[in-house]
Amino acid sequence: NRRIVLASRPHGEPADSDFRLETSDVPQPGPGQVLLRTVHLSLDPYMRGRMSDAPSYAEPVQIGQPMVGGTVTRVHASNHPDYQPGEWVLAQSGWQDFAVSDGTGLLRLGANPQHPSYSLGVLGMPGFTGYMGLLDIGRPKAGETVVVAAASGAVGAVVGQIAKIHGCKVVGIAGGADKCRYVVDELGFDDCLDHKAPDLPGRLARAVPQGIDIYFENVGGAVFDAVLPLLNPRARVPVCGLISAYNATSQPDGPDRLALLMRTILTKRLTFQGFIIFNEYAHRYGEFREAMEDLIGQGRIKYREDVVEGLENAPRGLMGLLKGENAGKRIVRVGPD
Ligand code: NDP
Repeated sequence: NRRIVLASRPHGEPADSDFRLETSDVPQPGPGQVLLRTVHLSLDPYMRGRMSDAPSYAEPVQIGQPMVGGTVTRVHASNHPDYQPGEWVLAQSGWQDFAVSDGTGLLRLGANPQHPSYSLGVLGMPGFTGYMGLLDIGRPKAGETVVVAAASGAVGAVVGQIAKIHGCKVVGIAGGADKCRYVVDELGFDDCLDHKAPDLPGRLARAVPQGIDIYFENVGGAVFDAVLPLLNPRARVPVCGLISAYNATSQPDGPDRLALLMRTILTKRLTFQGFIIFNEYAHRYGEFREAMEDLIGQGRIKYREDVVEGLENAPRGLMGLLKGENAGKRIVRVGPD
C-alpha cells in the first residue's frame, strides 16, 4: 500500500520535498467496514489550501498524514452489508492505494458505470460547483453576458456551457491560445481571451460591449481587475475561487483598491456571494447529477480529462495544476480497473 503524506507545509509554491511517498501493509477492514482500492484520484486547487495551516473553512492536513482527495475506487473486500467486492464507489480516500471505510460519505456508482472517473469532474464536485454557483447565485437570464476564467478547467468549462444552454453570451478567459481555441471550438463559448497576452482589460472591454452581468470568480488577481470596471448594475459575482493567490506569501504590491471595490459594489448594487459547494448545496447533489447525466447523454456538455499516470506523480500533478499546466480536469490514474 503506497500513500503520499504531507512532509512539510509549503511556503509559496509546493515543492517535491513537501510530499513523501510511504509504503505500508494493506489495511484490513474491521467489522462493518469496507476496503477500497483507488483507481482514480482527483487533483483539485483546494488541496493547496489543505497543505497550509492558515485559518480556512476546512481543517488542514496534518504533517505526516496522507493528502486528502476525492477518489473513484473499487471495493476490494467488504464486511459491510451494502458493499460487494468489485463495485465502484466514489470516496474521499486521499492520496493512497487502499483505504478502509465504514461507509460514511461513500457514493455507490454501481457494478459497471460508463465513465467512472467522471464522478471526480463533470459529474462530481467541480461540475456541481460550476452548475450550482452559476444557476443559484449567478441566476443567468437569456441575453445576459457571462464571463468566467479558468474557462477550460473543470469548473469553468461547466459554467460556460451551462450559461450557453441558458441563452447567455459567454466569454471565457484562459491561459494560452490552445486553451482558448478549445474553449471556443469545442466548448462553444462565444469568445475566449488569453490572460497571458497583453492588454487583457482592453480586449475584455471590446469583447463585452454590453458589459458583464455575471462574473463567475475562479481566479482573482489581474483578471478580476480587468472585470471590475465592466460589471453592469446589479451584476452577480459567485465567488468560487481565487487561484491566482493560492501560492501567495504576502499581499500584492500596488495601491490599496478596497475603496474602489466598495464604491463599485455600492453604486452598481453588485451581489458578491462566496460559496463552498458541499457546505451550501449538499442536499442538491442528486438533482444536479441527474440533470448533468442527461446533458452529457444528449451531447450538450463536453468534458475533457487530463490524466497524470501513477500515484507517485500526484505531487507534480498538483504543482502543475496550480500553474495552469492542465488541459481539462486533472486526475491521477492510481491503479488498474
Ligand atoms: P482548473 O481545472 O480550472 O485548473 C486550475 C486553473 O486555474 C489552471 O488550469 C489555470 O488555467 C488557472 N490559473 C492558475 N493560476 C492562474 C492565474 N494566476 N490567473 C488566472 N488563472 C490561473 O481548476 P478547477 O476547475 O478545479 O477550479 C477552478 C476554481 O474553482 C479554483 O479557484 C478552485 O479553487 C475553485 N473551486 C471552488 C469550489 C468551491 O466550493 N468554492 C469547488 C471547486 C473548485 P489557465 O491556464 O486557463 O489560466
